[in-house]
Parts: sequence; structure tokens; C-alpha cells
Amino acid sequence: MRKREKLRLRSRARRCHYCGVGLRETQKTLDHVQPRTLGGVDRRKNVVIACPPCNRLKAGMSLGEFAELVRTSTDPGPAAFRARANRCGSRWWERTRG
Ligand SMILES: [Zn+2]
Repeated sequence: MRKREKLRLRSRARRCHYCGVGLRETQKTLDHVQPRTLGGVDRRKNVVIACPPCNRLKAGMSLGEFAELVRTSTDPGPAAFRARANRCGSRWWERTRG
């Protein structure tokens, strides 16, 4: 993605793509939904704005793997995700399979 495209994406995003938490400008990180290490492209359709905790937690996982983790794990990271995402209406992770 070009820098200008990334800047536009950052400025438009208000919430984390994954947990829905509201973000200040300095909290916005870019995340590849399908990681580049798993063949994900560096294009608009594969890049979202995420909060730092979601970005760290998802790391190199595919969306399906991330959904599985936050659905099933009792570790602190996934538990914190569920607490943040309680206000996120879609609960996409309950329907997303790897
Ligand atoms: Zn988040």
C-alpha cells in the first residue's frame, strides 16, 4: 500500500477492526488481516486499523486462527479481548472459522 493510502485509512478509522474499541490517533496500528507471512497481500482489501492489544494478540495468525483463539482460550490476552469486544455488536469471532 502507498503511504498516502495508509494515512487515509488511519484518518478514517475510528474503531479497532477486531474488538470495536474507540481509538485515539496514536493508538491506531495497521494490521494485515491475512498476515504477509501467510501470503497476505499489502493491499487495501487486506489491511485494517487495529488497537495495539489486538494487533499484538493476533500477531501472525490468520483471521480464522484468531477467531478460534478468542472464542476458546482462557488466557489473559483472549479474555481481555472478549472484555473489550463486549461492546462490539457483531461478535464476528463466533461465526468465523479457520
Ligand atoms: Zn482491538
